[in-house]
Amino acid sequence: MEPKLFTPGPLTTSRSVKEAMLVDLGSREPEFTDVVAVVRDELLALAGSSTRDGHEAVIVQGSGTFAIEALLSSAIPSSGRLLVIENGVYGARMLRIAEIHGIPTASLRCPSTRTPDLAALERLLAEDDSITHVAVVHCETTSGILNPVDEIGEIVAAAGRRYLIDAMSSFGAVPLTFPSSGAAAIVSSSNKCIQGVPGFAFVLLTRELLDECEGRARTLTLDLHAQWKGLAANGQFRFTPPTHVLLAFARALEELAAEGGVSARNARYSALQARIATGMKELGFEAIVPTEHQSPILTTFREPESERYSFELFHAALKTRGCAIYPGKLEDTRAFRIGSVGDLTQEDAETLLRAVAQVCAELGIDRPQR
Ligand SMILES: *Cc1c(COP(=O)(O)O)cnc(C)c1O
Repeated sequence: MEPKLFTPGPLTTSRSVKEAMLVDLGSREPEFTDVVAVVRDELLALAGSSTRDGHEAVIVQGSGTFAIEALLSSAIPSSGRLLVIENGVYGARMLRIAEIHGIPTASLRCPSTRTPDLAALERLLAEDDSITHVAVVHCETTSGILNPVDEIGEIVAAAGRRYLIDAMSSFGAVPLTFPSSGAAAIVSSSNKCIQGVPGFAFVLLTRELLDECEGRARTLTLDLHAQWKGLAANGQFRFTPPTHVLLAFARALEELAAEGGVSARNARYSALQARIATGMKELGFEAIVPTEHQSPILTTFREPESERYSFELFHAALKTRGCAIYPGKLEDTRAFRIGSVGDLTQEDAETLLRAVAQVCAELGIDRPQR
């Protein structure tokens, strides 16, 4: 049996999304370039904008990190400075990418169960005028915490800096638009909340930021402006595109619309997350992120102290019952993560909770809250 993925992505996709890949299209055929054009327009629409309104969508081959690296290494000059608001591994990764490309950095760090101190951000921007760009992760998938991207955006806009958002694990399921956030760039990928399969990522950005990228890239393959130029000129990629993945993604976008768009998807994921958190609590598992900061995307639970517990055994036993969960770790806290995203239903959440109860009994795992 194929297990349901209670993971942050790749996640469980519908059969119809997978079936959309059963076609071989040439990358230069109009049937394919038409799909790419529709996908780019619809991504901008999801972000509350359009090319007419001054925004562009650039698709980048590879996983989500490739698009983050394309953005940072194309948009920020060596004379600039990137401030990363950091409360998890994805924030830390942006710093690492910037360092590799010789981009000066600064970081505003806070524990992974807390959202950033906005007054400290305001002070930092007022004091350090070398900071030109500010980046934050919307849903930090390290913990499942949701960062206040719109409030941060107000501060960044008031300070006149460029605002970059890693919305990888939230885009399509947690409301985020250019108008609401004041973002200069929003990044996400094919295999997260839009429920496509892995293979590409995308940068949605203002025309202004895109223009600044011209001639600034430090790599050939991740040159955002050159990539856009190809797509804008004739709908083609500079290098082999993941044709099947794009077909699946176009199908996934149709299914998102059929479900009722971002708000309906948000409601389904929120209900799944709430059921999983409540059910796990009844089974003696403590969620680590405070409820007021918890995203609908994924929940982090403290691991039982019980010596009968190991993640490997727990994971394997759940998997034989049709549920795949995800490892995790927060600072010094041993933890595991359960995603509430993908083509999952409330029935799947019940199956997972039954499986956890059975596995705890079978392995004789004592739980802290019991
Ligand atoms: C998934 C994810 C990424 C990208 O990870 P890849 O493994 O490169 O796809 C980046 N940021 C966040 C917050 C994510 O959840």
